[in-house]
Amino acid sequence: HMLRSSTYACRSRVHSGCVRAEISYIMVKPDGVQRGLVGEIVGRFERKGFTLRGLKLFTPGKELAEEHYKDLSQKPFFKDLVDYITSGPVVAMVWEGDGVVKSARKLIGSTNPLEAEPGTIRGDLAVQTGRNVVHGSDSPENGERETALWFGSGSVEQWQPALAPWLRE
Ligand code: ADP
Repeated sequence: HMLRSSTYACRSRVHSGCVRAEISYIMVKPDGVQRGLVGEIVGRFERKGFTLRGLKLFTPGKELAEEHYKDLSQKPFFKDLVDYITSGPVVAMVWEGDGVVKSARKLIGSTNPLEAEPGTIRGDLAVQTGRNVVHGSDSPENGERETALWFGSGSVEQWQPALAPWLRE
C-alpha cells in the first residue's frame, strides 16, 4: 500500500479517506544520551499514550544540525548549538497523536531548564539552556519538516497500537 510507510495515517473512524496524523519530531540530545536518560525520556512519551513511529541512534553531521536549526542561524549561540548537537549520538524519534506537538512541548518544559516546571523533562532533569537534554517540534508543520529531515520522507513506520481503544474512545 502506497501510504503504509508514510507519515499519513488512515483511520477507520474518518470516512472521507485518509487524514494526516499529527506527528512531532522528538530528539534526546547528546547530553541526554551520555547521561543515560534515553529510557526515562522515551518512557514519558510512552506512558502519556503517544505512538512511537520512528527511533534511531546516531551522531548527526554538521549539515544536518545546521539545517535543523536554520531559523536560529543568526543567533550568537548558533555555532555552540551545532557543536553541541553534533558532539555525540542523539536519539531521533517521531511520535504520533492528536495534539502531540503542543503536548510534547508541555511535557518537555521551558527552553531554560531553571524556568521549566517541576514534572517536566527539563524541569526534572536539566539545569542549563545549552544542555537541556531534549528537543520537540514547535508546530505541526515543523513536526513534518523535521521528520522528513531526520528520517527522510516516507520512512517512518505506520502501525496501529493494540492499546489504542484504551487511550481514546
Ligand atoms: P526549544 O528547544 O525550547 O524549542 P529554541 O528553539 O529557542 O528552544 O532553541 C533551540 C535550542 O537552542 C534550545 O533547546 C537550546 O539547546 C539552544 N538555545 C536556545 N537559546 C539558547 C541560548 N540563549 N544559549 C545557548 N543555547 C540556546
